[in-house]
Amino acid sequence: MNIGKKLANKERQRIAALKRKNALLRKSNNELSEEWKARKLRGIRVESDAFLQTYEWRKVRMEALKKYGAKCQCCGTTPAHGAIMNVDHIKPRKLFPSFALDINNLQILCHDCNHGKGNWDMTDWRQKNKIDCQQDDSQQ
Ligand SMILES: [Zn+2]
Repeated sequence: MNIGKKLANKERQRIAALKRKNALLRKSNNELSEEWKARKLRGIRVESDAFLQTYEWRKVRMEALKKYGAKCQCCGTTPAHGAIMNVDHIKPRKLFPSFALDINNLQILCHDCNHGKGNWDMTDWRQKNKIDCQQDDSQQ
C-alpha cells in the first residue's frame, strides 16, 4: 500500500514537472534568452550592486567611454576639471534590466549630474546635447 502511494506521488510530481517544462517550452527561445539576459549574468542579478563589478558591465562601460568620451553629456565637465565621470543607464537597470548591457542605453554623466537624477528621470542627455549642437551650428 505504502509503496503504491509513494509511486502515485512520484507520478504526480513527474507530471507536474512535465507541465512546468512544457509551459516554459511554449515561450519562444528568444523570449527565454532575453529573460535570462535581463535577469541574470552568471547568477548575478543585473539590478544588484554586484553587477557593477562584472566583466560584462565593465567592458560595455569602457565602450561607452570610448564612444562618447569622458565628458559629462549634461553639463560638459571633464576629469580635467576634477569631475568624476559616471556611465549612466538612461533607462534604469532596476526598471529595465534587459537594457543593462545595451550601449545605446548608456550616457556619460559627471557624478554631480548623475547624483541628482533618480530612477524616475530617464532624460537622454546625448540627444539633448545633439539638438543643442545642431542649433549652435545653424546659428554660426
Ligand atoms: Zn555634469
